[in-house]
Amino acid sequence: MTSTTEQTGAPVVPLGLPLVGGSHTRTQGHGTAGLETTDAERSERLAAVREGRLGSVHSWELVTAVDGPGTRLTVFLSGCPLRCLYCHNPDTMEMRRGTDVAADELLTRIARYRGVFKATGGGITISGGEPLMQPAFVRRLVRGAAAMDVPVALDTSGYLGAQATDEMLDDVDLVLLDVKSGLPETYKRTTGRELQPTLDFGRRLAARGNRMWIRFVLVPGLTDAPENVTAVADYVASLGEAVERVEVLPFHQMGRDKWADLGMRYELEDTEPPSHETTESVRDVFRARGLTTF
Ligand code: SF4
Repeated sequence: MTSTTEQTGAPVVPLGLPLVGGSHTRTQGHGTAGLETTDAERSERLAAVREGRLGSVHSWELVTAVDGPGTRLTVFLSGCPLRCLYCHNPDTMEMRRGTDVAADELLTRIARYRGVFKATGGGITISGGEPLMQPAFVRRLVRGAAAMDVPVALDTSGYLGAQATDEMLDDVDLVLLDVKSGLPETYKRTTGRELQPTLDFGRRLAARGNRMWIRFVLVPGLTDAPENVTAVADYVASLGEAVERVEVLPFHQMGRDKWADLGMRYELEDTEPPSHETTESVRDVFRARGLTTF
């Protein structure tokens, strides 16, 4: 199978094209030849982005025992529609801060690790930011990885789940779905966006039989109200067997300095991580519904 089929997935455009590269400042007095070149380059770049040949990438790293089973190459894409108060990587929020990377270049890199993935039961994890900000790029990556028999995990908030085509999801082995709140008002306060698209995406994945690991970040004073925890747990339990595990992740302050470096206001400055006992008691709420929870 190839990754050169015509674009059939959702276009990149709804949330804006990445602004990396190209020329936004035209110098004066250089004639038109340079401008013509710039325009041609820019339009080629936009075409490449639209077709998913080029994506805005923050970074990648080789990790073990996180972001899915085995050893994984986790690729962090730039751009995110949410503004989570606890975001550990606020430098991934803006697509323009990423670097243009060709899908083929990334797939060549992925191919080098095939032996490691096979030996450890690992694969690649496409994370962010929010990968579904760049659905055409993701579709090309997952197709290319699947064609090499490399398992793919998609790490998403689900907010843009409607951007994931069934064709894309057929190539995804595991979805790491962040359910950031069970109550709409808490979700809004935590992320600045609506909860419903995430709920809809989780249900769609369950109906399709896509395997899921659910992640819930426990933030004292923000997401830890018993009624919010119960709402998340009830929702996750309603997804049935597609959910393989739940990870309750205690909030930590490791991203704090990045907010300051970016000149962004960080509202959780004074928030302490939850105690081990509190985290365990929240995990028990999930366990009580028969969910394997870490
Ligand atoms: S979804 Fe992830 S990357 Fe986006 S703001 Fe929230 S924590 Fe940050």
